[in-house]
Amino acid sequence: MNAPPRASELGMMSCHVCRLVTAYVDDPHAHCPRCGNALHVRKRGSIGRAWALLAAAAIFYIPANLFPIMRTQSLSSKDDNTILSGIVELWRAGSPGLAVIVFTASIVVPMLKFIIMGYLLVSVQRSSGFVAKQRTRLYRFVELVGYWSMLDVFVVAILSALVHFKILSRVEPLPGVVYFGVVVVLTMLSAMSFDPRLIWDNRKSQ
Ligand SMILES: [Zn+2]
Repeated sequence: MNAPPRASELGMMSCHVCRLVTAYVDDPHAHCPRCGNALHVRKRGSIGRAWALLAAAAIFYIPANLFPIMRTQSLSSKDDNTILSGIVELWRAGSPGLAVIVFTASIVVPMLKFIIMGYLLVSVQRSSGFVAKQRTRLYRFVELVGYWSMLDVFVVAILSALVHFKILSRVEPLPGVVYFGVVVVLTMLSAMSFDPRLIWDNRKSQ
């Protein structure tokens, strides 16, 4: 089956911001006639930037897991919990639903994002034309999931609010949660820096 032509083959390019399709101009300083945004056929330095942000996110993921994310305090005890010990604690305290949400949001989702973004970047760098459509879907998944990644931070906030109702016991967020927030932001920026059109540049026919 013949693949439909791509915009670059037809001598056209589109604006990243307002999506206006214009004729290709060979000028690095070209601007969109409608919204004035700089025009590029492909985002410049997209692979390098996406790799750098992903690597930074992976580095910050270490302290996010090693440092405690919250402290629960009552008259008799004071407990500092990391993400993992917090999950075990929630499970033991009879909130398996909440434990599963925190586990998904703070362990499964970040790991999936690291693996998918790494795979997309390696496959584009190796000029792979393999399963381009599926890889585009993976990219959309990473983008979609990005919006929900702050869930974990919200769980800490909700827990703090819940525990405040009980007298003499409280929950405080600790530095780990800041590192986790940084991981979420960096992986989102990495996904935004990646230009998914690169996936289709090496496709021969499909
Ligand atoms: Zn525009």
